[in-house]
Amino acid sequence: MLRPALFSAAALGRSLLSSSSALGTCAALTAAVPRWFSAQPSPEEGDRTADAQYTFRARDLLIERSPVQQPPINLEDLKFGTVFTDHMFHVEHVVGQGWGRPAVKPFGLLQVHPAAQVLHYGLCCFEGMKAYAGVDGRTRLFRPELNMARLRRSARRLQLADFDPQELLACLKQLLMVDRSWLPEREGYSIYVRPFIFSSASALGVAKPARSTISILLSPVGPYFPTGLKPISLFVDELNRRAWPGGVGDCKVGGNYAPTIQPQVEAAQRYGTSQVLYTFRESHEHPDHGEFEECGAMNMFFYMEQRDGRRVLATPALTGTILPGVTRDSVLQLASGWGECEVQERPITIAEVRQASEEGRLLEIFGSGTACIVQPVGSLIRANGEVYRTRFSPDDDPAGSLSSRLQRALLDIQYGRVEHPWGVALD
Ligand SMILES: *Cc1c(COP(=O)(O)O)cnc(C)c1O
Repeated sequence: MLRPALFSAAALGRSLLSSSSALGTCAALTAAVPRWFSAQPSPEEGDRTADAQYTFRARDLLIERSPVQQPPINLEDLKFGTVFTDHMFHVEHVVGQGWGRPAVKPFGLLQVHPAAQVLHYGLCCFEGMKAYAGVDGRTRLFRPELNMARLRRSARRLQLADFDPQELLACLKQLLMVDRSWLPEREGYSIYVRPFIFSSASALGVAKPARSTISILLSPVGPYFPTGLKPISLFVDELNRRAWPGGVGDCKVGGNYAPTIQPQVEAAQRYGTSQVLYTFRESHEHPDHGEFEECGAMNMFFYMEQRDGRRVLATPALTGTILPGVTRDSVLQLASGWGECEVQERPITIAEVRQASEEGRLLEIFGSGTACIVQPVGSLIRANGEVYRTRFSPDDDPAGSLSSRLQRALLDIQYGRVEHPWGVALD
């Protein structure tokens, strides 16, 4: 298994950060570049592994099989995240008592106290990953240790109970094997895996959770955007913020997502867009100085030609307001390896993209995330009426666009068409 001691992107981000602070970005952010995906305890955490009780263990996993099996699903009208398999994972931690026994149980309702902190203060965090049926018949996860490490980081930010990410991954794999028959054997389809942790403590005080619950749900899914690899348009939201320096935009905590619904719904009504692209750092006097951040659930990439003809693939650096996506890092590594363009993590201003679009140098825009993998964007719509279009879309040259080649390369690893350390086979 891969051991993500330190994410390569963190080092990349660090070098680019120093240049971004030179450009006038808040210098204090430089110090905040963290161990994004480190599965190892940081010095301030101390070495918890010495404390044998700090985690549950996969070897203790209890498997209780469901007496009933649901009828087969219809892949044609599978709506994302609405169908669930026969089983789920469950384990609870109580401060003072430690972890209970981890279990794979029949899928069913959770019982929570009405005063549970999660219901009042949003004390919850989650992960999103996928299991794929490989062309060789084997079940694969994609860089799952990164999701486990990120979940641990998010949980720590909310002071939920700590655990060993490798033990959770081992439990997750067993859950997947129990519900293996649910995995659609079809390209574009997978089981979406949703681990989550929340405070089940029944106390109305805003305080460290006395009880934490970890669960994992499995949901068979098809392509995320019904339009497939067709480019979508995004509304550039220059009013609402998704994240800010010193906030928790770099953690997958529930509180980051609830406030994004209203902007998304309003943009859909007004502009017909399915997603919102957030910006930051603009001012009234200089609206075009705003920098692109990301969507509510996708990191953003801009593929541009510079005036000298050189091609650049740029994405916002991990300065604390960007969620460090597993797909984002994979795209960066793949594109760097291909060597056909310069790959940069840095600020991307509205002015830069507008100019590139006006001069026909905005080649492609795409989002990245586990759900959609790579999603091409054809146009950006601003509230002032301006629309920035990309020069070529996968429609023009389906095989040739950078986004579709990246998508293909990732799918090849995920479905096991190529052997790669990122594809982790379970069976
Ligand atoms: C989950 C998520 C992403 C994508 O991350 P992946 O690890 O690539 O799935 C991007 N942005 C936000 C805000 C997210 O929550």
